[in-house]
Amino acid sequence: MGKQRKGHVISKLPNQKGFILVLNTGAEIDAQAEAMLQALHSRSTGGIKHHLKVLKEKGAEGFMERFYVGYGHKSIGDCGSATVFVEGVSMLAAKAIQDWRLYSGQEASTRYVDFSKQIFLDPLNSKRTNKILEDWREFYLDAQKPLQNHLKEKFPIQEGENENIYNKAIAARAFDITRSFLPAGATTNVAWRMNFRQFADELMLLRHHPLKEVRDIADTAEKALFKMFPNSFGHERFDHTEKYNESWINKEYYHRNKDLNKFTLLFNGIDRKLLKQHKRVMEKRPFKTELPTMIGECGVLGYEFLLDFGSFRDLQRHRAVVQRMPLLTQDHGFEGWYLDSLPKDLRKKADKLIASQEKKIMNLKTDDETRQYYIAMGYRVPCRVIGDLKALTYLVELRSTRFVHPTLVAQMLDMIKSLKRLFEKDGLIFHLDEEPNRFDIGRGTHDIVEKK
Ligand SMILES: Cc1cc2nc3c(=O)[nH]c(=O)nc-3n(C[C@H](O)[C@H](O)[C@H](O)COP(=O)(O)OP(=O)(O)OC[C@H]3O[C@@H](n4cnc5c(N)ncnc54)[C@H](O)[C@@H]3O)c2cc1C
Repeated sequence: MGKQRKGHVISKLPNQKGFILVLNTGAEIDAQAEAMLQALHSRSTGGIKHHLKVLKEKGAEGFMERFYVGYGHKSIGDCGSATVFVEGVSMLAAKAIQDWRLYSGQEASTRYVDFSKQIFLDPLNSKRTNKILEDWREFYLDAQKPLQNHLKEKFPIQEGENENIYNKAIAARAFDITRSFLPAGATTNVAWRMNFRQFADELMLLRHHPLKEVRDIADTAEKALFKMFPNSFGHERFDHTEKYNESWINKEYYHRNKDLNKFTLLFNGIDRKLLKQHKRVMEKRPFKTELPTMIGECGVLGYEFLLDFGSFRDLQRHRAVVQRMPLLTQDHGFEGWYLDSLPKDLRKKADKLIASQEKKIMNLKTDDETRQYYIAMGYRVPCRVIGDLKALTYLVELRSTRFVHPTLVAQMLDMIKSLKRLFEKDGLIFHLDEEPNRFDIGRGTHDIVEKK
């Protein structure tokens, strides 16, 4: 079967705080061999049984090197996948990795994981910046208990409710509120699962990312993938492509919109005549069922609104819509929902802390990209979302239930209002949670725990 690597590839990130692990599943037919089998299948009538015999005799190494990396038959790279675990990277880096429409994977949840012990990355590494980060941590830590007590008074346990689940739901709500005080430099873990081609294409952009941390992740991941799958990575780099990517990413990657102050319909590019042909399909769509992709032929519409960075992290995961990466700044202020959710004395402390941190962060002698590491995730950013009616319908239904963070729900309810006004007469319907703002202890059951 040819040589296969033993063990996972583990590479430390240059900042020594995190690492990358490329998973070795130990499969007899690994991802490279799987890709080769599919490619052979497309080029001869020998059939899969014959190709399996060839694989057994000759292995997949030479094949992938020659036909995929060498000749650039990119679609062969679609046929094998890798899973990369990235640990100890900032929230900003996690978002950069996930800023890809064919990204699959999972990220640590700020709702179920206590982030007080996580490392906060400090790229400027000074006394002053360390103090900013530790002040956020102190507030996050000190707020947990009093906030949980406050929430228990506000949402007392109901008759028949399981106390354990209730307590978990209260803790989850407290994490939902206090995450706003975590700086974007707080570290998290990401699982990153894609096919070879997507990895190569995404890494091609990530290596020019404005943040050094992300460029380092891209370099380390590329080398680690090459080690695990030596015949499927290591593509030639072309100067003109590299220069072009570097130039647009440096100038245009991050989105800013200082003038944005309300929920806005940017444009409506839906073709009404065409949409008429889909009226029956739209009207008949049942609960928890997606519209067919053909609706996309009618065009797209775009929205822009302010949302705190904490909730943007959830919104960004919706890959069927096109989104920009907002620059995290203090321009649009701290989201009021978080502050209003605190008991009175904590609120006072929070107001004081935010005012003092804002000044300190503004005065840092650095660029706006690096400044993001010190800004808390409760600050609002401009979110631009463009999608067709299938993608937007899925998004607003999934993200407007009682189990979703309330700041995101609020924006989704505005989007639903706008979509109804525009397309209800065309047959567009929604299946929605009737009480999207209800505190439901069901969220206490959504944690994923190992069975003892
Ligand atoms: C309450 C809640 C808690 C969650 N907690 C976590 C968590 O802790 N950690 C975590 O990692 N995730 C979590 N998630 C899931 C994560 O956020 C999802 O990835 C996100 O909700 C996007 O939804 P989706 O993957 O279902 O679909 P989307 O990406 O929105 O896709 C919608 C549909 O379009 C299809 N599609 C996808 N991409 C494209 C494309 N490019 N073009 C056309 N169609 C496409 C999809 O197959 C799907 O059918 C949570 C989700 C919810 C609702």
